[in-house]
Amino acid sequence: MNEIKQPDKRPLIYYYLIAIVVVLLLNSLLVPMYAKRSVKEVDYGTFMTMTEDNEISKVEIESNKIIFEDKNSQVYQTGIVSDPELTDRLHEHNVEFSGQIVEQTSPIVSFLVSWVLPIAIFWALGQYLSKRMMKNLGGPDAMSFGMGKSNARVYVKSSNGIRFSDVAGEDEAKENLQEIVDYLHDPGRYKEIGASMPKGILLVGPPGTGKTMLAKAVAGEANVPFFSMSGSEFVEMFVGMGASKVRDLFKQAKEKAPCIVFIDEIDAIGKKRDGGNFGGNDEREQTLNQLLTEMDGFEDNSGVIILAATNRPESLDPALTRPGRFDRRVPVELPDLKGREAILRVHAKKIRVADNVDYAKIARMSSGASGAELANIVNEAALRAVRDNRRCATEQDFEESIEVVIAGYQKKNAILTNKEKLIVAYHEIGHALVAAKQTNSAPVQKITIIPRTSGALGYTMQVEEGNHYLMSKVELENKIATLTGGRAAEEVVFNTVTTGASNDIEQATKLARAMITRYGMSDDFDMVAMETVTNQYLGGDATLACSPETQKDIDARVVELVRREHEKAKEILRQNRRKMDELAKFLYEKETITGDEFMEILQKPGDIWQDAPEAGAAAQDSAKPEQ
Ligand code: ADP
Repeated sequence: MNEIKQPDKRPLIYYYLIAIVVVLLLNSLLVPMYAKRSVKEVDYGTFMTMTEDNEISKVEIESNKIIFEDKNSQVYQTGIVSDPELTDRLHEHNVEFSGQIVEQTSPIVSFLVSWVLPIAIFWALGQYLSKRMMKNLGGPDAMSFGMGKSNARVYVKSSNGIRFSDVAGEDEAKENLQEIVDYLHDPGRYKEIGASMPKGILLVGPPGTGKTMLAKAVAGEANVPFFSMSGSEFVEMFVGMGASKVRDLFKQAKEKAPCIVFIDEIDAIGKKRDGGNFGGNDEREQTLNQLLTEMDGFEDNSGVIILAATNRPESLDPALTRPGRFDRRVPVELPDLKGREAILRVHAKKIRVADNVDYAKIARMSSGASGAELANIVNEAALRAVRDNRRCATEQDFEESIEVVIAGYQKKNAILTNKEKLIVAYHEIGHALVAAKQTNSAPVQKITIIPRTSGALGYTMQVEEGNHYLMSKVELENKIATLTGGRAAEEVVFNTVTTGASNDIEQATKLARAMITRYGMSDDFDMVAMETVTNQYLGGDATLACSPETQKDIDARVVELVRREHEKAKEILRQNRRKMDELAKFLYEKETITGDEFMEILQKPGDIWQDAPEAGAAAQDSAKPEQ
């Protein structure tokens, strides 16, 4: 609020005064000075003498003065004196003389010149100055209170815009929106039956999943204008401005109907209204009220369809989501394996790619990535190809760029001591080994222990678990055990602990807590929800909903669960100590191990360490601190 530029305090009259003073000065100083230079003033006696001496050639008698010229063309002037013989004398001396014809200026002209012209000049000056002042204030918008023009960007050129085919995956969302496209093509069919289209459709999903793209694609497919505005653009400094922007947007939209209005980040204005806020939210509430009114205002089938996107649907005001307003909700989720592959293919079309790139493999490696991240991965791959002076991006580029996008660039000069590197190797192998022993399958795509700019010292690319919608209690417990596996390996091998496990600890705790408070997986609490999740699409924060005593109880149970799984992990690692040493040694030396190499070593029959215990001891030696 206090960011407003201070308006120019000097009132407009100040400028007028300056202008008047300048004009007066010019008049009173310059003009007479100029006149004085050329006309010599003399007394009446001199005039008479010069007449007598025949020195004068021409005389002009004005109403208040006499101007005369001598033979040398020097001009003189003198005041009027009552002199009845003047004309006789002049005539006698052959002087050419004349009087002044009093010109009667037309009263209209004189009125125009003396009144209208100066006023017009000052008015123009005033206009110019006030325009400049407005500019200083921050644009014409700041002054035109109440007018609040919406600055919605209009994309009318929808015919060559984005199409559904540009949006990969998201088949359910596309199917849902196809109906809107059909309606926009032929509203009559719907009117005949009496069906009315929803006025508003809410696209809900995590950031970067293509919500904006889908909205544009609807407009593109239906070939109608597309108004786009972000929720935050409605929220203005002055109360009432946002509301009038909403009015203006809808006015424009109705004129252009059929059309699509897209409001991105609608939670910026559509947040639940609560009475608890002191001031500050008037503007947002007014804007929201206006939006609700506008949505009620236009009739069904008016041809204006409002699409809105949000990643916080739970924070929206119920009035906004009730039938008749945003009554349809289209989830736009993170892409699954097939979706990721499709998105990669769509974006790879824009760059030059080697022929043999296995997109399915890249998709498997980039589990959990959003559409925007996948687009980024493709671009990173192209950038890498350019950097290495290659003509097209290869599979290797894609693989490396997944790691770059997810974990950051490789740190070129990271100085890990050998001991640190060894600890990291054991840590990562610890996770993988616990996971592999529990499920008997390859748990990872690849592990690298090259430090990354994100701060990660090692990086594990998990195996895509396939479309997995339910997880059993045992699976969750195994997952916790896997998360504790890294620390467990450090303890088993080095008998010490490091700070490297903080992220694992956080995740394990979260999972254990969720099992107890949300999934009803503890006998004591049965199916009672102790926590509710907010912000499902932005990390999923949870709020406790239980008494402080229960909270204590929950904490104790979480600790118990994590400890049990931690012990289990340690036990698994102790039993497979030799395999662990072998795997860690491999990773330590090569810095990278793929899932296949991992399984090969793990499943190799004839455990070499069992046959030759000394070799095992040697390997253990190499695992000792080397500094
Ligand atoms: P959102 O609005 O959900 O945050 P956007 O629609 O702005 O996400 O998407 C950001 C970018 O991510 C797009 O410009 C596009 O390059 C890419 N993208 C996201 N989802 C997809 C998809 N399903 N198909 C193709 N590209 C996608």
